Amino acid sequence: STPLLEVNGLKKYFPIRSGVFGRKTGEVKAVDDVSFSVMPGEILGIVGESGCGKSTTGKSILRLIEPTDGEVKFEDRNILELPKGEMRKLRRDMQIIFQDPYASLNPRHTVEKIISEPLLVHGMKNSKERKERVRELLEVVGLNGYHATRYPHQFSGGQRQRIGIARALANNPKLIICDEPVSALDVSVQAQILNLMEELREQFHLTYIFIAHDLSVVKHISDRVGVMYLGRMVELTTKEKLYEDPKHPYTKALLSAVPEPDPDIKKERIILKGDVPNPQNPPTGCAFHTRCPLAMDICKEIRPEFAPVEDHHFVACHLYNDKQ
Ligand code: SF4
Ligand code: MG
Repeated sequence: STPLLEVNGLKKYFPIRSGVFGRKTGEVKAVDDVSFSVMPGEILGIVGESGCGKSTTGKSILRLIEPTDGEVKFEDRNILELPKGEMRKLRRDMQIIFQDPYASLNPRHTVEKIISEPLLVHGMKNSKERKERVRELLEVVGLNGYHATRYPHQFSGGQRQRIGIARALANNPKLIICDEPVSALDVSVQAQILNLMEELREQFHLTYIFIAHDLSVVKHISDRVGVMYLGRMVELTTKEKLYEDPKHPYTKALLSAVPEPDPDIKKERIILKGDVPNPQNPPTGCAFHTRCPLAMDICKEIRPEFAPVEDHHFVACHLYNDKQ
């Protein structure tokens, strides 16, 4: 079958300006040549430390920020070439859920108004119809009609995220980009929201891109997982392969930090030296070479291609594709 979404060579460079005239003095390559596709009904996890470009990737796909270059095909149309009006229509089909539901819900609006808004924008003019739809959506996410007249501050973090999800579902989207939707929540609440999201996927045949900074969060929910480092995708494969047979040294280090529930399994924690380098001035060659325990001479010079090492398993590392 054909992918719902195809991202090819996506780039988002932010200019760095300085001085009184705001002259451009450099740029941050927040997303630098990222490619992947998402099949209908799939959950693709995207993982990486803060500043790796995962959120920028999500926002660029929806054109909440305009990408610098590349192609984003949704149902075979390159949405980066769509005029604004067409893009607005397409927004029905593509939604985003943010990390901090509180920041994304207008505190002065009732839940009713918050969830009604996208309905109104996309043409549901009848207020009685909207009211009914809001109540239906609240029930779908485990709240009820009684909550409609309340304000965001009257809810817990988990409930607020349910409101955010209800709003995202309002116009029956096909794709939802979930940008760290549980990162701000308590661990017990995280599981409830993840379960809800899985149920909703089944119920409404949704496709998710699930962004997280932690491999343990996406393990449960993803079909495939991509790992990003300093604006690039460094590994992408099925969940099984990624967790059982990771190839990229960065993925291995991230995985070694995931707590192991089985106490009989002893894991050696791989501690990376140094911090993530400044994205304004990324290392040459493989951007991970300054922290990689296995770095070789070539790694400082030549950027490894993101290439398949076996079926459905892409890695950007000279240990695996050093024949370039
Ligand atoms: Fe490490 Fe070199 Fe592979 Fe980069 S290319 S991850 S530095 S071994
Ligand atoms: Mg982010």
